Amino acid sequence: MHFLEHERATLTDLLPGLDDALAAAPLPTWETPGNPGLDHFRAAGGPGLLVPAEHGGKGVDLLTAVRVQRAVGSRSPSLAIATTMHHFSVASLVETAARSSGMEWMLLAAIAGENLLLASGFAEGRTGQGILNPAITARVEGDKVWLNGAKKPCSLAWSMDLLTASFPFPAENGTARLAVAVVPAKTPGLSVRPFWKSSVLAGAESDEVVLEDVEVPGDLLVRTDVGVDGELDHLNTVGFVWFEALMTASYLGAASALVERTLTKHGVPDAARAQAVTAVESAALMLRGLAARAAHGPIDDEVLAQALVCRYTTQDLIARVLDVCVEALGGMAFVSGDDIAYLNSACRALAFHPPSRSRMHAPLAGYFGAGEPLRIPA
Ligand SMILES: Cc1cc2nc3c(=O)[nH]c(=O)nc-3n(C[C@H](O)[C@H](O)[C@H](O)COP(=O)(O)OP(=O)(O)OC[C@H]3O[C@@H](n4cnc5c(N)ncnc54)[C@H](O)[C@@H]3O)c2cc1C
Repeated sequence: MHFLEHERATLTDLLPGLDDALAAAPLPTWETPGNPGLDHFRAAGGPGLLVPAEHGGKGVDLLTAVRVQRAVGSRSPSLAIATTMHHFSVASLVETAARSSGMEWMLLAAIAGENLLLASGFAEGRTGQGILNPAITARVEGDKVWLNGAKKPCSLAWSMDLLTASFPFPAENGTARLAVAVVPAKTPGLSVRPFWKSSVLAGAESDEVVLEDVEVPGDLLVRTDVGVDGELDHLNTVGFVWFEALMTASYLGAASALVERTLTKHGVPDAARAQAVTAVESAALMLRGLAARAAHGPIDDEVLAQALVCRYTTQDLIARVLDVCVEALGGMAFVSGDDIAYLNSACRALAFHPPSRSRMHAPLAGYFGAGEPLRIPA
């Protein structure tokens, strides 16, 4: 069995032609703004990957989705990250649809049938502001809601067909609860402007989405039970588990690209090759364990805690992989192209996705140490 053989076979089976297309061009092709990776993703039917089969999608489970994201990340980290945001939004929509008789199923059918892309705007570009505490404002008049503010960085900003945006829904007693709305990208008042200035992961289109009096379709608004204490409701727990697993798998894919170069380069010592491959494969095993647990029981605090353990441990394993591979590949490999420096930088960004490790120190210690409910500080 070759390294990444299972992952790439799964990708080709589900999204035919995508791996071949990505493999046919060098890494930088897929990492620049406006690259054709998302076109290939759409052409292969990628948007419907998680949409249940009865609504025209592939209906894959977490285990399979994790394999697909790792395979994509090994060819294009930007595409894996951007599509993680799409899949995470779809997974949340599937969960919402399972508990409501609203419009969500029609939307899921359209996503699969018309290959629509969903962006996911939670962050607002301010360090220290938790993603469960958006500052965007909602004006509510009867059944109607209008949004004002900005979401940044928001991957897929230029290519999205629909935006999923979080906002505080004002309650009668003056408090607010997190709400999530799906808004068509062409809605009047919605615009996109450049935000991402780094060349690293620039292919993910993580720019700024501006909302100026954007009307939210009433039937595509979900009010959650997440308040300021950071205790999650079921929908957000499920969403976070999918997000952490798919994002971890995407960066594991990027690290695997470096390991692949280390395994196949003539003259690299066996010790370095074995250390690097052991580290990434152990992260893959953790993800597999997480996916098995998610498949066989309710997705609750315990699964979310496991997802976070898996993500933070993978961050550490990837750091080790970078150390080993960059040194083992050597200076000539480093200076004779951009790939190694690029992957070395791109892999570090797993640390920048929510919730940051330091934000979760106290909640994880409280959860495992004192049996407290797992909170994500808002
Ligand atoms: C490639 C990429 C794509 C992205 N795409 C999207 C997207 O599509 N949609 C989206 O919503 N967001 C997206 N994001 C943004 C992401 O969700 C984060 O919100 C953002 O990166 C956080 O920025 P930050 O690290 O500066 O802030 P924070 O995570 O708030 O904090 C940075 C650091 O500050 C310290 N800190 C902050 N708060 C605390 C605390 N309470 N306790 C202890 N320490 C703390 C920690 O050291 C932490 O590591 C993307 C990010 C990246 C890297």
